[in-house]
Amino acid sequence: MSSSTRDTRDVDHQLDNRYSTFQEAASEYLIRHRSIIDVLSKIQESSARVNRSVVKAVTSCGCISVNASRQELPSDITYWEMKNYMSTHLDGEMCEQCKEVLELELGRTLFYLAALCDLFSLKFDEVIEAERKRVTALGMFNLT
Ligand SMILES: [Zn+2]
Repeated sequence: MSSSTRDTRDVDHQLDNRYSTFQEAASEYLIRHRSIIDVLSKIQESSARVNRSVVKAVTSCGCISVNASRQELPSDITYWEMKNYMSTHLDGEMCEQCKEVLELELGRTLFYLAALCDLFSLKFDEVIEAERKRVTALGMFNLT
């Protein structure tokens, strides 16, 4: 490795470590859309783009398709067995290019969610951890 390559990596590493959390980075880089109105509308926009990236995987790329119908469940199963019978209504597997777009849009949505946390002095990591605890403690009764 040349010294210039190593220097570039050192700078990248220093920039990577400048903010210890995703939220700190979001807070620092959120300049143009710092207003609550902008943050809220950016969350909606980025969320719509997440949906759009899945739709385009179906309608433009064609790597996946949606085949939806009423969920059919055997009558003699427990609630916990339902997961084994519930369909995603997806056929195929998303290609790497479409996954890359989806990942980008999900990341952008997370960025604005972290920014929203920051505007209200909430800790993004703590919100995620609190939700994890709620889901695992309440299980099926938490999500409808
Ligand atoms: Zn694709």
